[in-house]
Amino acid sequence: MNILWFRRGLRFHDNPALLSTIENSKEFLALYIFDTTFQDAGYKPYHMYGFLLECLNDLNERLQSIGTKLHIFQGCPLAVFRHIHQSHGVNKLCFIQDCEPIWHERDNAVKSLCLELNIEVYEHVAHTLWDPMDIIASNGGTPPLTYEMFVHVAMSVGDPPKPVADPEWKDVKFVSIEPLKTNKFILFDGVPTLDAVGVPENPVGRRNRKIIGGETNALKHFAIRLQAEETAFRSGFYQPNQARPDLLGPPLSLSAAISVGAMSVRLFYWKIHELFDKVNKGSPPAWLGITGQIIWRDYFYAMSRMNPKFDKEVDNPICLQIPWNENQELFEKWKNGQTGYPFIDAGMRQLNQEGWMHHSVRNAVAMFLTRGDLWLNWDIGAEYMAYQLVDSDWSVNSGNWMWVSSSAFERLLDCSVCINSVLYGKRLEPSGDYIRRYVPELANFEFEYIHEPWKAPIDIQQAANCIIGKDYPARIVIHEEVLIQNQTWMKDFRRKFKETPAHCQPSSNSEVYKFFCLPDDSLPF
Ligand code: FAD
Ligand code: MG
Repeated sequence: MNILWFRRGLRFHDNPALLSTIENSKEFLALYIFDTTFQDAGYKPYHMYGFLLECLNDLNERLQSIGTKLHIFQGCPLAVFRHIHQSHGVNKLCFIQDCEPIWHERDNAVKSLCLELNIEVYEHVAHTLWDPMDIIASNGGTPPLTYEMFVHVAMSVGDPPKPVADPEWKDVKFVSIEPLKTNKFILFDGVPTLDAVGVPENPVGRRNRKIIGGETNALKHFAIRLQAEETAFRSGFYQPNQARPDLLGPPLSLSAAISVGAMSVRLFYWKIHELFDKVNKGSPPAWLGITGQIIWRDYFYAMSRMNPKFDKEVDNPICLQIPWNENQELFEKWKNGQTGYPFIDAGMRQLNQEGWMHHSVRNAVAMFLTRGDLWLNWDIGAEYMAYQLVDSDWSVNSGNWMWVSSSAFERLLDCSVCINSVLYGKRLEPSGDYIRRYVPELANFEFEYIHEPWKAPIDIQQAANCIIGKDYPARIVIHEEVLIQNQTWMKDFRRKFKETPAHCQPSSNSEVYKFFCLPDDSLPF
């Protein structure tokens, strides 16, 4: 019997592990394991788990439609595989590579078990565009330090592989195992509920996730996304999500689906490239920049591939040790959307309720917590966001936080180009409706005051039914004052370097503007 082990890669399309499992029409069994041994069994983020269960449900329905099912276990992967081998005999185990160091212990243990039991193991690269180890090898054994170098090395490795064919189920025989409970694992009857896998009761206000899981849903959204890409190409721009941020629009983002592999990153890349070539009839030809965001993802994966401390400041070789403050009270206010800065509070409340914020809002709240305003360590913010985000991704989240906080990847280390959340917010949502939706206390303010309600005269506050400091918090810091302080600290810190560390040098200013979704001429913002 051959086993397909779904971990991420929760899809039928572009799934080389699936093709390898059904090759030569052997008996086939599909499984997923809620791992209680190699992963922290108590770590059960609500939004992410809700999304994940929807993905498993979709996968199960797909498998049912061809006459089998998804076997969902909870327990130690080693015990699960040992049991199935004893009861059914396993010839081959196939899965998609999880390249990050946080998965290595699990995968090495499973590979050793397979060696012991004489089971063939096939690990396929399909979660990233390139195998990070190919990138590292081509760069002489270390990851390319800057994004520009990464792009250069990736181009020398060659185009990312095209998606593989859809599975052919003819002649495949299915194996089924009945629900089971041993002292080492559970095999659920069907797809479990959040409760059954031990996700803690949902605190009030966290029931509004709008991004729904599953390959079927992801492919539907991707079709809509491709229409937006085509409109953009025909109007002479690209990356429509970044170029024209829509904070209030329908949640068509694919990052959550990409992070669990319900959507293939290679399909995303190639469909957009083929579309560009179709629209432009090959001249100019598609280039990496039209899918630049997704290249950043591979860049962060390459950077984290051999760095198990990538998500922390301490002992992280690429992270600058900036002397951040500690202040639990300020941190709590940031987490709960109670900073008194409406754009920041709207973002954090949206995160808490829906597990989601647009990239631009993530930039704003991350900068506010770190070098912009509160001067707190990026890694506590990253840990909180990782727990709340529906698209939570170890490498991508940590990489972005280091970037925004100037702890790595970012050249400027310079607070004069920090985001001012008032100006940035006004630019991104000129209507004020984003704040009205997520900070309802402020709903009655006119646009003139909604981004800075502390400036509203008291009669206007009374008319809006919202007294600042009573119905909505007064600002926890005064941006104009802390900015000067933070700039001084950053300058002092910068003076210690004879030269900027190699991994703090993006290729150009335009890279910085792109990251913040801003036109090149918009400094200061
Ligand atoms: P699109 O513009 O459609 O981009 C397409 C895909 O490219 C995304 O779906 C995503 O997979 C990838 N991508 C986009 N932007 C980035 C980026 N800056 N870095 C790496 N990959 C990117 N993204 C996550 O997937 N998981 C996270 O945990 C995460 N944490 C973040 C934390 C902070 C502080 C910041 C500033 C950004 C973070 N991002 C994270 C990146 C980005 O905000 C989201 O991927 C993006 O909002 C997804 O929206 P989209 O699918 O519409 O993106
Ligand atoms: Mg997307």
